Amino acid sequence: MDYLTDERRLAMKDRIIITGLEIFARHGVYEEEKEKGQPFVINATLETDTSKAGWSDEIDETVDYGVVCTFISDYMTKNNMNTLEALTNQLARKLLKNFPTVSAVNLEIQKPEAPIPLPFKTVSVQIYRTWHKVYVAFGSNMGDREDTIEEAIENLSADECIRMGRKSSYYSSKPYGDVEQDDFTNGVFEMDTLYGEEELLIRLKSEERKAGRVKTVHWGPRPLDLDIIYYDDEVYESENLTIPHIDMSNRDFVLAPLDEIAPFIVHPQLGLTAGEMLDNLENTYVES
Ligand code: AMP
Repeated sequence: MDYLTDERRLAMKDRIIITGLEIFARHGVYEEEKEKGQPFVINATLETDTSKAGWSDEIDETVDYGVVCTFISDYMTKNNMNTLEALTNQLARKLLKNFPTVSAVNLEIQKPEAPIPLPFKTVSVQIYRTWHKVYVAFGSNMGDREDTIEEAIENLSADECIRMGRKSSYYSSKPYGDVEQDDFTNGVFEMDTLYGEEELLIRLKSEERKAGRVKTVHWGPRPLDLDIIYYDDEVYESENLTIPHIDMSNRDFVLAPLDEIAPFIVHPQLGLTAGEMLDNLENTYVES
């Protein structure tokens, strides 16, 4: 399996490159920087497919770099941030959200007159941000399950950092573990997100809380459970999070809906599609 670095991914795609865009704005930790303002210089690389305009020669079929420059200028002049870190992060996200055909952005903001008491040329923050393809498994076995799930999906759709994709049908499943409780309604949905792995977990947990979930019994009843199944083709492990989801290959109520909406996606460690994992699971049941 070939895991591409962000740099290599970007290198393979078409790009529109803006260099040395000068904007006078008021960002900085010091009061004086906010009052007087200073010049900023922006370099932006936008990853976008230029092939349509390459054939048609139509401006409407590409990203208009003039519009992008005006957008950057408006954002830079209408906001006052303390740090270049927050400014680049927010601006990169706004660009990705407002220019849907841009799939990734490499953004550098320079501050050549930053308050540094030594000779220097410039100082800058450079970041790379891209949409991430994520599959989330959902489950509910309390209250009006489908309503709860639909409300959560609606809330997530309204989030600036999320573009919702396909949603599977609803699947009914018997509870997992030993706790006596009602059947579950399960399924999987797809989204593109600008959230990092841990940020997304926090965002999903807030949705679980909104649905009224309080942590009580492990594997107990719950109005809403949202689990990250895949995050791009990443293998990720932290104190809070394991991606791909550690138990997905044992859960038919995850694999069946995943097979419905993403039949060709391969588990980055096992090298199997959801359908193949489901077959293995069914074979295991037959044997035991
Ligand atoms: P659950 O009971 O399914 O809500 O999971 C409880 C905990 O599992 C969460 O608080 C997460 O910190 C952790 N966890 C580990 N991996 C994942 C994952 N891929 N998606 C969601 N939660 C996860």
